[in-house]
Amino acid sequence: MTTPWGLPDFDAHEEVHFITNEECGLRTIIAVHSTHLGPAGGGCRFWHYAKDDDALTDALRLSRGMSYKNAMAGLPLGGGKAVILADESKTKTPEMLHAFGKAVENLCGHYVTAEDVGMSVADMIEVARSTKSVAGLPNSAGDVGGDPGPHTSLGVFLGIKAAVKRALGKDSLNGLHIALQGAGSVASGVALHACAEGARLSVADVDEAKAKKLVERTGGQIVSTDEILGLDADVLSPCALGAILNEQTINGLKVPIVAGGANNQLATPQDGERLHARKILYAPDYVINAGGIINVCTEYLGDGDASLVRQRIEGIPTRLEQIWAESEAEGRDPAAVADAMAQRLIGRA
Ligand code: NAD
Repeated sequence: MTTPWGLPDFDAHEEVHFITNEECGLRTIIAVHSTHLGPAGGGCRFWHYAKDDDALTDALRLSRGMSYKNAMAGLPLGGGKAVILADESKTKTPEMLHAFGKAVENLCGHYVTAEDVGMSVADMIEVARSTKSVAGLPNSAGDVGGDPGPHTSLGVFLGIKAAVKRALGKDSLNGLHIALQGAGSVASGVALHACAEGARLSVADVDEAKAKKLVERTGGQIVSTDEILGLDADVLSPCALGAILNEQTINGLKVPIVAGGANNQLATPQDGERLHARKILYAPDYVINAGGIINVCTEYLGDGDASLVRQRIEGIPTRLEQIWAESEAEGRDPAAVADAMAQRLIGRA
C-alpha cells in the first residue's frame, strides 16, 4: 500500500485530508502540518496538476512552510495548506467553493484558509458561506483584511532592502537592477515599491500580457522566462512558483542576492548550501514572504489594526538580519539556520 507517511515531504504532518465531492467536481487535499502554536493557518491553492502526486507534494511542502512561516513571524498559528486540484481548463464554480468551505468547516477550526495562487478575495466570500475558518475577506479602507498580496509585497520589498544593505552596503534600491520572476499579485507590488525607489526592473512571466501590463506601469524590460534566472542583475526576486532554485539554475545565477516572495524556492535543502557556497545571499522564502499571513492572522484573530499589521511586517527585515548574522557566525546557509529556528519554535527541534 502506498501511503503519504513514507513520502520525503511528509515530515510528521498531524493530519492530511483527501476530500472529494463528485457532484461539483471538487477534489482537494488539506494538509495540517502543526497546530503546536495554534490553528493551522495557510492559504488554498487552486491549480491544475499534471499528476495527483504533484498536488500532494505541493500541499505537504506548502503546509510545512506555513508552520515555519507563522512561527518565525511570531504568530499564534500553526501551519497548514489546502490545494484544490483543478481540471485542465481550471473550471471553478460557486458550488465547488462552497463544498471546499464545508470541508474546511468539518475540520472544526484545526485549519484556517485564505487566498493563495488561483484564489481571489471573491472566492473567499463564497468559501465563507460554508465556514467561519476563513480570512482574506474584503475590508473597508483602513481595516485589516482583504487581499494578502499587497502585504506580502511590502514585506518582500523591505526584505530586499535589508539584503541589499547587507550584501551591497546600500540604503536604497535606487539605480539597482532587479530581476523579477512573475508579474502576478506579489511581483506587481514588489515592482511598484522598487520602481518608486528608483530601481530598474526586468520582468518575466509565462503570461506575457501580465508582464507587459506591469512594465507599462513601472518601466523596465520584459525578458523571457528562460532568461530571467540567468540575468546579470543586483537582485533576483522569484515571485512565481516554487522549486526554481536547483543545481543547474544556481550554477547559472549572476546575482549577489536572491530575495523573493514565492514559496518553496529551493528544490532541495542542498540548494540552500549551493547558494551559500556561491556567496549569494538568500532570504529564506517563508521569512521574507510573511506579510500576507501577518495580515490574514490579524484579521482572523481581530487583535489589531492596520498600523499594527504594518509594524509587524516591518519586523521582517530584523528577522532576516538575525538569520544572516547566525549564518555568518556559524558558517551555515541561511535556509538551514531559519529551518532550525522554526523547528525550535514549533517544538520539533
Ligand atoms: P499570482 O498567481 O498572482 O502570480 C503568479 C504569477 O507567476 C502569474 O502571473 C503566473 O503566470 C506566473 N508564473 C507561473 N509560472 C511562471 C514561470 N515559470 N515563470 C514566470 N512566471 C510564472 O500569485 P501571487 O499571489 O503573486 O503568488 C506568487 C508566489 O508568492 C507564489 O509562490 C505564492 O505561493 C507566493 N506567496 C503569495 C502570497 C500572497 O499573499 N499572494 C503570500 C506568500 C507567498
